[in-house]
Amino acid sequence: MEYRPELIGGHLALDLVNTVAWRLDVRRRIDRIADPVGLRRWLTATGLDPAGEDPGDLRRTLVRCRETAYAVLRPLTAGDEPRAADLAVLREVAEDAVRNATLVSARPLTWRAGTVAGQVRLAVWRFFEDEDLHRLRQCADNDCGWLFLDRSKNGSRRWCSSADCGNRARARRHYQRHSGAPA
Ligand SMILES: [Zn+2]
Repeated sequence: MEYRPELIGGHLALDLVNTVAWRLDVRRRIDRIADPVGLRRWLTATGLDPAGEDPGDLRRTLVRCRETAYAVLRPLTAGDEPRAADLAVLREVAEDAVRNATLVSARPLTWRAGTVAGQVRLAVWRFFEDEDLHRLRQCADNDCGWLFLDRSKNGSRRWCSSADCGNRARARRHYQRHSGAPA
């Protein structure tokens, strides 16, 4: 089926993480930006214009940023601390981001990058500085693995998309109730 990016993360860094579908199920896991068409679709959906950038280099940068972000964020969703090795890679992403960006304002500190690779590095690094990570959640589906910021008033959002993972869970509960299987 054709890849149609769903930007439900609430931040570019999370929408990047969510370019992997079924992350927690190794048999079904799909990297949506592994091929040039998927990569182009995601960039278009996010409004990023990679004019003149080498798609292979760009993809490698995006995957590095994505896997670094996920490795650090996943433990946070469970109330755990990230591994030192993963924080070390995040530091490298931040260093690359600064090295390739221009400081355009001091108050507040504002960086600008001239390439998509640079913009994504900045977005991933700054995500950890700017966002209230108490709102960070992982979809409650066992296999999905998507991350999002829960901006609901009472902090009750459980699913990446209730039309998708939420509905599957409801259907499963319904089936279990009516088949006598243990919930
Ligand atoms: Zn989900």
